[in-house]
Amino acid sequence: VVVIPRAVKVAERTLSTQHPIVDVHAHAFLPEVESLVEGTAGLAALRDLEFRRNGAESSAVSGRMFGQRIGLLTSVTKRLDRMDSTGVDAQVVSPSPSHYHYWADEPLAEQLTRAANEAMARVVAQRPDRLSGLGLVPLQHPALMPAALEHAVTDCGLRGVEISSHAIGPDGSGTVELSDRRLDPFWQRAEELRAVIFLHPFGCTLDERLDRFYLANTVGQPTENAVALSHLIFSGVLDRFPDLIVVAAHGGGYLPTHIGRSDHAWRVRSDAGGCEHPPSSYLRRLYFDSLVHDEAVLAALINAAGPDRVLLGSDFPFDMGADDPVQQLAGFGLTEQQRHAILGDTAVRLGLLPSAK
Ligand SMILES: [Zn+2]
Repeated sequence: VVVIPRAVKVAERTLSTQHPIVDVHAHAFLPEVESLVEGTAGLAALRDLEFRRNGAESSAVSGRMFGQRIGLLTSVTKRLDRMDSTGVDAQVVSPSPSHYHYWADEPLAEQLTRAANEAMARVVAQRPDRLSGLGLVPLQHPALMPAALEHAVTDCGLRGVEISSHAIGPDGSGTVELSDRRLDPFWQRAEELRAVIFLHPFGCTLDERLDRFYLANTVGQPTENAVALSHLIFSGVLDRFPDLIVVAAHGGGYLPTHIGRSDHAWRVRSDAGGCEHPPSSYLRRLYFDSLVHDEAVLAALINAAGPDRVLLGSDFPFDMGADDPVQQLAGFGLTEQQRHAILGDTAVRLGLLPSAK
């Protein structure tokens, strides 16, 4: 019996496709990371916070959902089966945001990010023709971030890193926002390495006000994205680092569709004038995934950012994602050029295609 390795068949298919389909928002669960924090007080405190923020009912639903989908998060075979059945050629895989563990002190944070980056490299290595990967950096310790980024990209061959919208400093040093000047060496290194920064919130500081109806996610995620992107824009980070490649998850949350208010504040108020140009102009320097679940909102996002700034994102394999992202997009009235750009052409331009071996 001659067994044709699947990689060969897939490589043929991918090569024959003029426009490969690339999903830039897909997660993996990394047991190697969680084993480092098992039984710690920090993890217990994080779980308490998460339970408070989500409420009992949403926590129970999320627990069942996670249990049902854990195979897709950990098995590359199951991942590839799903990709094949939904017509996705490649995924840019990022760690499940539950691995951030921004509560960790410096030594543990260093250990965690190294473990995450190395684990991600192992995931990618199982199918380097179909998967590329992103790592982690400790946002709560800005001084450690450039080295962690370097480790992810240079040592582990990852395309960049995933960060949350903010981090609470574990040493009582307050909140690290994306406007924090201590992040400048990190932004600079990211520019130099042409690394992708995937902005993916995890946890909203509106806390118990969102503890019903899964508001912690439906409202919390777009809120956190809007806050983080506003810090990035208004502080002039994108003026100082114009070549930064930032991809915002969930279509950038509420910001792209409500940017008029930001432009108005920038024009009339001296305290909102920290960036050189109107805030809306920076949307055309950022990238966004397509995961907004609404045709009109996607159209508004494309209008605000440009069709070459939106990339297919499914949030694989979570229930708040699109189980069949290509099909979902096909149902939205896009021009063929827009559809190609979103499905993969822009990701290819950003160098996110797997480096097929
Ligand atoms: Zn996600």
